[in-house]
Amino acid sequence: MVRPPTNLESLTLDDLEIDCHCHVFNARVFPVEAFLRMCLRRWARDELGPAARAIAALIKNARTLTGVREGASLLLRDWQREWVGPAGVDLAPSQGSQGGANHVAAFVGSMLVASDEDVKSELLPPDAAERACTPLMMDLDSALREPPPDAEERWQAQLDNCSRLAAEHAGRAFPFFAAHPARPNLLGRVVDALTRRGFYGVKIYPPLGHEPDDVRLHEVYQWCERHRAPVTVHCSPVGVWSDLNAPTGVDPMRHNVALAQPANWRPVCSKFPQLHVNLAHFGGQWEAETLGRDCPWLDQAVQMLHEFPNCFADVSYHCAPLHANPEVRDAYFRRLRQTIDSPIGDKVLWGTDYIILRTRCRHDEFRSAFAPPSGGLGEDQFRRISNHNPRRFLFLDDPPDRYLHFIRALPPETVPGWLKHAAHPSGPSARR
Ligand SMILES: [Zn+2]
Repeated sequence: MVRPPTNLESLTLDDLEIDCHCHVFNARVFPVEAFLRMCLRRWARDELGPAARAIAALIKNARTLTGVREGASLLLRDWQREWVGPAGVDLAPSQGSQGGANHVAAFVGSMLVASDEDVKSELLPPDAAERACTPLMMDLDSALREPPPDAEERWQAQLDNCSRLAAEHAGRAFPFFAAHPARPNLLGRVVDALTRRGFYGVKIYPPLGHEPDDVRLHEVYQWCERHRAPVTVHCSPVGVWSDLNAPTGVDPMRHNVALAQPANWRPVCSKFPQLHVNLAHFGGQWEAETLGRDCPWLDQAVQMLHEFPNCFADVSYHCAPLHANPEVRDAYFRRLRQTIDSPIGDKVLWGTDYIILRTRCRHDEFRSAFAPPSGGLGEDQFRRISNHNPRRFLFLDDPPDRYLHFIRALPPETVPGWLKHAAHPSGPSARR
């Protein structure tokens, strides 16, 4: 049994700091092997490919050993920037925050050994009752040509894990159920998770092999719209993807990654205008933007926020704030602060992408890159994205009945003050 934090009773909604994008995987629930295979394929195609060509060209063209050495150090410098991915994180290994192969290896290693408690305590520190989060499930197995034999067992473990988290951290952990259209009886599963098991919203991950507007998801969107269940959707060119569904002759990676474009949500947001949709990662190209590159996905996300009143976007896995070059950091925060102070500023959500973020850095490193006093955002700006906006996205000022129903069944001493008032408006004696 987890002991409730000491100041739980006095906790108000105003106190909360909500991480709107995180995961609580470890190897018990996450298909580590499939994930690693996807990473390797990505490096082989996108990153090792050009790197191998660059090395071959260097060896062929260099006239002297010194030439090789100089060329190699230039390549190495470029790699530190480029090959860790579009984010361009460029930190010394001693700073513990470099991305790329070593960190994915460290990440996979930590997933293999991490206990549920390790993972949770980084997200929901026992001495910080104000920290809240929305752990997002993932259904990687539904996207694999041949799901591993233990897939069903891991899926159940992932469900149980999130459900237990919701009960043990009432009002602090709001899990999102992963809805993949290939899962049989999908609506039944969503309803069960969101009405009986403490799940709060739904996670959609189009690169796992489907369009956002897939007709098999319409009844899920409709249910979520009617029952005020927020939906978080993966919208970034970086991530995992299915090896299925690509038309003949089309590279499955290119085909599936393209499904994550923010503009693909236009038909869904038009058909279900009351649905709260978080376009996670805000297009995923903020780092490219700071380096002066084109970023059509970011432009699309901004456009969507202007166009649809119930569209949001989170800053999870935005690694520019970790960049060694202060100019990159400054450019990133200039743009983010402008956005937060603009008419779409009430749509920006705080998010980290922990534990996937662990391929780059620890939760606290990421947080302190954004939050005052050390981070790039002011007190008001960080509060806006980590409290005001998430409260609206999650309907927390008037929590949905289905969630309050789940809360009423929990031991009252484990429920934070603000939520107790919402669940029992006239005091404990009025308990239904
Ligand atoms: Zn994520």
